[in-house]
Amino acid sequence: MVVIKSIKSRDVRCPTSLDKTGSDGMNLSPDYSASFCIIETDSEFTGHGMTFTIGRGNELVCGALDLLAPLVVGKSLDDLTADWGKTWRYLTSDSQLRWIGPDKGVIHLALGALVNSLWDLWAKTLGKPVWRVVADMTPEEVVRCVDFRYISDALTPEDALAILQETRIGREDRLAKVLRNEAVPAYTTSAGWLGYSEDKMRTLLQQSVDEGFQYYKLKVGTDLDEDRRRLTIAREVLGYDKGKTLMLDANQVWSVSEAIAHMQSLAEFKPWFIEEPTSPDDILGHAAIRKGLSYTPHGPIAVATGEMCQNRIIFKQLLQAGAVDVIQPDACRVGGVNEVLAILLLAKKFGVPIVPHSGGIGLPEYTQHLSTIDYLVVSGRKSVLEYVDHLHEHFLHPARIEKGHYVTPLEAGYSVEMNPASIDHFTYPGEKGKSWWKTKEAEAVLTAPRVHPL
Ligand SMILES: [Mg+2]
Repeated sequence: MVVIKSIKSRDVRCPTSLDKTGSDGMNLSPDYSASFCIIETDSEFTGHGMTFTIGRGNELVCGALDLLAPLVVGKSLDDLTADWGKTWRYLTSDSQLRWIGPDKGVIHLALGALVNSLWDLWAKTLGKPVWRVVADMTPEEVVRCVDFRYISDALTPEDALAILQETRIGREDRLAKVLRNEAVPAYTTSAGWLGYSEDKMRTLLQQSVDEGFQYYKLKVGTDLDEDRRRLTIAREVLGYDKGKTLMLDANQVWSVSEAIAHMQSLAEFKPWFIEEPTSPDDILGHAAIRKGLSYTPHGPIAVATGEMCQNRIIFKQLLQAGAVDVIQPDACRVGGVNEVLAILLLAKKFGVPIVPHSGGIGLPEYTQHLSTIDYLVVSGRKSVLEYVDHLHEHFLHPARIEKGHYVTPLEAGYSVEMNPASIDHFTYPGEKGKSWWKTKEAEAVLTAPRVHPL
């Protein structure tokens, strides 16, 4: 029996704002960061989970993690995993902490890290990667991982069971593809950040073409002429008739009517979808945008969102309202594996494909498991998954791409355990002589403007 002894939070920040990696229409200077949750036990096993942020505020999530820790310290892993749906409800039921959510915000980001660290620990004790833990469950066991409160008007446990039983057909063939690294095609955003020069963009796009990628995503949404200039460059490299799919991402910069007008003007570049055209909370707004883009002279443009959708309830409403063509759940903005399973099941029920959000430190490490679970256990369909080629070197088992596909992770756990030296190097505010944040170089980042001047 493994008993949880302590939980430590670590505030880790990589200074990506130095080269504008991750920059987009809304987020001008992100420092890719992770609030780590590290579980220590009375055994040799440890659990590692994290949630992604882009810098300032990471300390708030670490503080929230410290507040959630007493819910699991002293508990046995067997007790916590015996009825996962019940455990998940328990972890969201400290009413004083729930008041500063519920199911959203800082407390929910921290919950994602905590729940995922428990899955990492559990998978390590079972000697399996997380995707395999779920794949080896019976449909009944998968259903028991989910808290159906607030979603049963759209998806009942019986619906979920029927979906999972039906998807078992063809499972062996799909498992063979998983083990041959053919289950999760990747798309790249590496060339698409707004802060990159034309030369850097061309070079990175060509590099991605040479590496075998078929799907490419670019940031848009600052200025229409600038977007047209960048999309012209992209299509010059990718062409229109070479089977290369282009996706666009506005990171919430538009109101509903602006989104429709702006995207109608970019339709000639034939994007598959526009991601986050407006506020992630605006379900009816997304429905209006989808309707407004269902016809353009160049064909319809699909609507995608999800990386900042805070919980399964928002996803439920987006699906019920017919507001989106693609949903993009994040592995740790929602409450970890259990809530993602609820969202995958909802997506399958409504026949909408998933494209999990993966643009951030540690996210590809997580989402490779989630896309594999969706393919093998829930939808039975392949989807594409974002791959951002940054910062993987800091992880013990980094996500890898071969021939445009994710290499299925086989190591036990959830793949986000970071090299201890990297954690120390990027700990904020950190110690002098240990942390990058105490060096002279860090001053430029620490004193950079936080927002556009008034
Ligand atoms: Mg995005």
